[in-house]
Amino acid sequence: MSSYAGPVQDLIDELGRLPGVGPKSAQRIAFHLLKLPKIDALRLATAIAEVKDKVTFCPRCFNIAEGAECSICTDSRRDSTVICVVEEPRDIVSVEKTGEFRGRYHVLQGAISPIEGIGPDQLKVRELLTWVDPGGATEIILCTNPNLEGEATAMYLSRLIKPLGVKVTRIASGLPVGGDLEYADELTLGRALEGRREIED
Ligand SMILES: [Zn+2]
Repeated sequence: MSSYAGPVQDLIDELGRLPGVGPKSAQRIAFHLLKLPKIDALRLATAIAEVKDKVTFCPRCFNIAEGAECSICTDSRRDSTVICVVEEPRDIVSVEKTGEFRGRYHVLQGAISPIEGIGPDQLKVRELLTWVDPGGATEIILCTNPNLEGEATAMYLSRLIKPLGVKVTRIASGLPVGGDLEYADELTLGRALEGRREIED
């Protein structure tokens, strides 16, 4: 891959660090940005700066938050005895759309993936256990993706949490296997949530 002068190459390098963007795509996007009117290109830069300034992760559930805590953690009407465990903040949006869930969430910020070198220590697993403290949650719903990593993560969490005397459930099958929650329509995801089953030993 040929190199370009300073700023252009810097942009290509930065874009190439984004997930799912290979060197060729990075180059294509960089040249697209170069051709754009300055005002249009700077909108992207401003959006990135704004999100980094104003948005953080909720210290309780690791959802995205614009204040000290996220909008779900600050809502006192939500049921703290049922915790829905998801991989990413975008999965909360999917579950919320079903209208079937009134409990709280915990975002792992990923899934266990030995191939990518991601183990429990790289995820918000230890933080999940604080929901199970005495007087806390009575049910943990494992709502990780119905793919290899999601299933492995659910299995790991089940073994970790069940001995603590909490009911651990897994969303029902019927979701497209190998897929992500975000691709499931709300009716299917709602049914999967409703049809969740307790995980056997
Ligand atoms: Zn929160």
